[in-house]
Amino acid sequence: MIVMKFGGTSVEDETAIRRLSYVVRRSLESDPERPPIVLVSAMAGATNTLLDCARLSCAGCRDAAESQLAALEARHDRVAAELVPAEELSELRTHIARLFADLRVALDEISALGRLAPHLSDAVASRGELLSSRIVDAALRSEGIRSVWCDIREAVMTDDDFTRAAVLFEQTDARLAAMFNPHIAAGSVPVTQGFLGAAPDGRTTTIGRGGSDYSAAIIGAALDADEIQIWTDVDGIMTTDPRIVAEASKVDVISYAEAAELAYFGAKVLHPSTLLPATRKGIPVSVRNSRRPEIAGTSIVQRAPQSVNPVRAIAFKRGITIVNISSGRMLMAYGFLARIFDVFARHQTAIDMVATSEVSVSMTLDDTRNLDRIIPELETLGEVTIERNRALICLAGEHLRSTPGVAARIFSSIDRINVSMISHGASAINVSFIVADEDLTAAVRALHTEFFSGEGRPRNTRKEDAEYTENSFALS
Ligand code: ASP
Ligand code: MG
Repeated sequence: MIVMKFGGTSVEDETAIRRLSYVVRRSLESDPERPPIVLVSAMAGATNTLLDCARLSCAGCRDAAESQLAALEARHDRVAAELVPAEELSELRTHIARLFADLRVALDEISALGRLAPHLSDAVASRGELLSSRIVDAALRSEGIRSVWCDIREAVMTDDDFTRAAVLFEQTDARLAAMFNPHIAAGSVPVTQGFLGAAPDGRTTTIGRGGSDYSAAIIGAALDADEIQIWTDVDGIMTTDPRIVAEASKVDVISYAEAAELAYFGAKVLHPSTLLPATRKGIPVSVRNSRRPEIAGTSIVQRAPQSVNPVRAIAFKRGITIVNISSGRMLMAYGFLARIFDVFARHQTAIDMVATSEVSVSMTLDDTRNLDRIIPELETLGEVTIERNRALICLAGEHLRSTPGVAARIFSSIDRINVSMISHGASAINVSFIVADEDLTAAVRALHTEFFSGEGRPRNTRKEDAEYTENSFALS
């Protein structure tokens, strides 16, 4: 069995959904031994629009919210009418109308409350996937594919941490099997939603922005899938972001560990949590382009063949803030780091990188929402300075650790750029460091040239139409 996850751009309009049907049909015909489960995101932009409507309603602009909502409704209606023949359209329209009616009730509730309660935010955001999955299900059926719509909220059980709920795996795994296996055995193609779950009291939750990839992996792991396919709008994982380096090329095969580093440190193509369930069960993940299904994409596997190039790919993250704390008291003291980390933990803020000297600690953050509350607490421990507008660059490769001279190549290729906080993680499969934001582009280009151009270095398919649009999410 294969889990096929289609992201927002792969369901964004009638053309995209026709391509999706083609991809599913091709898989059914060429690979009948591995029947698919189809999992979809909301149409590109829909989640953002829905959350804008929620924010507008809460700010007292219910009318402005309504006009955005009406446009979104018209878009869904139009796509439905393009794809589904008249005799089936009225049932689909009923589903769409009901979902928009729910949305209007939720927006009214938000505007009455004057506050965006997290459970209402999820009630609103979740409709995007419920809508797109209804349309995809009907579209597949009108193409003669025996699909069956499944409500993932009956299987994925979460805690009640709305907007970023944690999945309760013990309950979820058994329910997923019970939900999907009978349909697959009967030769049907289940169509379901990414991103969603249900809290213990049954209310709808979401598992964090961009979470559909993670949903795909959760389903794949629970059902021991043969493969998890992430269908998106780029050819696969690229050697770096093609918007910065035009000659960036596709990586054909990459290990779980390398891909996880890249996802965590800024590569937008996969949600960082995706690989955990897949790795646990050793299920191969592939990233494929729904606009060019004939291209093989990137395979993410336990062990990727070694290439001559010690660097598999280069990722980066902008908008990094460095927090420095220095204190004479740190010298020879124990428990100092623990106290610092405790402050961040209490304010639910993740630290990406840490560097220490005898009397100072530097940490990088990309989530600065709670910084105003964190700084005064840190000031009780030492002198605090903040550096904003930094960027983190991460080079990942399993063979970084065993290839002599890589660090020299990295840093001599960017010797004109000021680098700080160099880290070669314990896993030794990444080298990361910080540069000023204005130096980022030059640094990434120089590094890419150093490792990926010239003879004897692997060159893959050229990326022509790269746009990381679907995944330009902010992880919450
Ligand atoms: N639609 C959700 C989002 O935009 C989930 C996803 O696409 O992965 O965050
Ligand atoms: Mg995504």
